Amino acid sequence: MSNYILALDQGTTSSRALIFDRNGKTISIAQKEFRQIFPKPGWVEHDANEILSSQIGVAAEVISLSKIKTDDLAAIGITNQRETTVVWDRTTGEPIYNAIVWQDRRTSDYCDELIAQGHEPMIREKTGLVIDAYFVATKVKWILDHVEGAREKAEAGQLALGTIDSWLIWNFTQGEKHITDSTNASRYLLYNIHTLSWDDELLELFGIPKNMLPEVCDSSGALATTSGAIFSRKIPITGVAGDQHAALFGQMCTEPGMVKNTYGTGCFMLMNIGDKPIISKNKLLTTLAWKIGDEVVYALEGSIFIAGAVVQWLRDGLGIIHSAPEIEELMDNTEDNGGVSFVPAFTGLGAPHWDQHARGTIVGITRGTTSGHIARAALESIAFQTYDVLKAMEADADIEIKELRVDGGATANRFLMQFQSDVLQCGIVKPETSEITALGAAYLAGLGIGLWDDVEQIKRQWNVKTEFKPNDDFKVKESVGQWHRAINTTSYWSNNK
Ligand code: ADP
Repeated sequence: MSNYILALDQGTTSSRALIFDRNGKTISIAQKEFRQIFPKPGWVEHDANEILSSQIGVAAEVISLSKIKTDDLAAIGITNQRETTVVWDRTTGEPIYNAIVWQDRRTSDYCDELIAQGHEPMIREKTGLVIDAYFVATKVKWILDHVEGAREKAEAGQLALGTIDSWLIWNFTQGEKHITDSTNASRYLLYNIHTLSWDDELLELFGIPKNMLPEVCDSSGALATTSGAIFSRKIPITGVAGDQHAALFGQMCTEPGMVKNTYGTGCFMLMNIGDKPIISKNKLLTTLAWKIGDEVVYALEGSIFIAGAVVQWLRDGLGIIHSAPEIEELMDNTEDNGGVSFVPAFTGLGAPHWDQHARGTIVGITRGTTSGHIARAALESIAFQTYDVLKAMEADADIEIKELRVDGGATANRFLMQFQSDVLQCGIVKPETSEITALGAAYLAGLGIGLWDDVEQIKRQWNVKTEFKPNDDFKVKESVGQWHRAINTTSYWSNNK
């Protein structure tokens, strides 16, 4: 009986592999970092072959650590850093250029031109996205325009294009399958989220030959089978999703209105909005949450650039704490923010404010202000930024959220989680498994192979670790009002350069 799922979590800084059992319990983890390549300011690349070898390496290691045989593996689930783009030669299997990473800004001027030409409303309506260097399309165009002979080869059908899921699967199947799942496809700026197909008008606009594109498949089901050469036997790949989508599934946010927020360096928030795409009026993205058979689920997405990173800045920039957990001790002796607000717009502000010129602002300082007040205002800023995105989601979807499911490093901070609950006046739920992204990939794969019968069965084994309930007497209006005055101050400063 094959009782285990191998989840491959291919992230921005490391490749990870995890084994989960039938109960969704983590058996072991292996992880390997790989090189970040910065050829010029604003450019970020990865060596696609290094991604592949590190991913295969950790998969072998985790199988050995778990003391199971490959025969015990029912299936593989893959989740990946999104938008990172690889173009490779179909004959040699070699990438023709490094993978261009989602963070890479080399195509921002081109994006500004497209916006100035008035393409944004059409693109937004079709793809649910905004025109930005972040997504796949302009990265591919750059490779075709800058790598010698690439465009001719592409037009002759000799090149394949994919995000990291496609690259891994193409290699795991020794070139047999060139596919991507619909969540990854929805990050291209080329995928029509209404018709669920590549869009010819967009392909033409970006000058990308259709034959380069992967076939789009479901996020769960019989998607591919590894060649015997990789894991000593053929193993089905039955789950694939981009990392944030996998996390939404791993949090079992399977009903409209359910939301997850990942508190890492930044925050990534996704809300399940059901089977109809809603194009945001509040500058959020619309994306595929997952597609399983006939079931298509959409999500609204909002990101916050600086969340846990503000705590790192208190440690490394200001030096008022020595470690991230120490901030919580500081909170024990700090009753309130002392009138101080902190907008950590170090790299501009993301959703729903979108001000790339905004910069960090601390306001309300008096002679009585202490490091504790500043630290508290910094932590509060994580919760207030989350509040702003959630309110935008509620307005777009016309759904009031009842609870927020959370994961990521900064959820270790109990003060922050309680404060978040107070500000939102809703429950905060933290699941037992901390590896929620990999768990989501494992769930998709397990469903795809029939290890679990349906989502209901998974929900029954999904356990809450900690729950935070809101204090009724928390003064939401007052504290959010102070925050919004600080946001206005930040905007005033950035707009009066
Ligand atoms: P990423 O995946 O983006 O690297 P993680 O999920 O590993 O992020 O979380 C790391 C972030 O969490 C860091 O920015 C760190 O400052 C923050 N963090 C970790 N522990 C705490 C804590 N106890 N209180 C507040 N922030 C914390």
